[in-house]
Amino acid sequence: VGEEDAEYLVSLIGSTPGFPKEGIIFRDFMPVLADARGLDILMRGFAATLPVAPEDFDVVAGLESRGFLFGPALASRFGKGFVAIRKAGKLPPPVFAESYDLEYGSASVEVEQNAIHPGERVLIVDDLIATGGTARAGADLIKKAGGIVAGFSFLMELDGLDGCSRLSEAPISTLIAMP
Ligand code: AMP
Repeated sequence: VGEEDAEYLVSLIGSTPGFPKEGIIFRDFMPVLADARGLDILMRGFAATLPVAPEDFDVVAGLESRGFLFGPALASRFGKGFVAIRKAGKLPPPVFAESYDLEYGSASVEVEQNAIHPGERVLIVDDLIATGGTARAGADLIKKAGGIVAGFSFLMELDGLDGCSRLSEAPISTLIAMP
């Protein structure tokens, strides 16, 4: 996308300091999706910055919940399928599960056991990477399910958290960086 498009895209992203808790600036992509030009720029930008060539991945996996908004559209653009990586308890059994640590306590993510075929190369997609904990758990889950992590694609990277350093096994693309 050109500079003008990039500026327009960034102008649509909402920022809410103190949500959902103090010290966080919540970055909101919903206004981008609601805007016809914004959505077009977003999808073109995503497609143009893929970290791997289309022939080097087989399926797109989206992280709940905003990875579900972009993942299927991106997959369809490249003639691939889409797999949902969900928070625990949402998918019917049998599932593979992977737990990870949060600031307080832990959480886990799940994928349906028949969703990933052995050796399938998976592009993991989400709206934003902060600490990288969610994407790390998603990648470990894909491996547990027999897949190969081919790459990671995020719309935004939060500066200074170095989340991408936790995803060293595959190439990463991010469209925008913000504090
Ligand atoms: P992390 O696991 O720390 O990389 O956090 C990434 C996940 O939390 C993604 O699914 C994001 O949608 C969400 N997230 C983290 N920080 C923010 C933020 N500042 N604004 C919006 N979403 C966020």
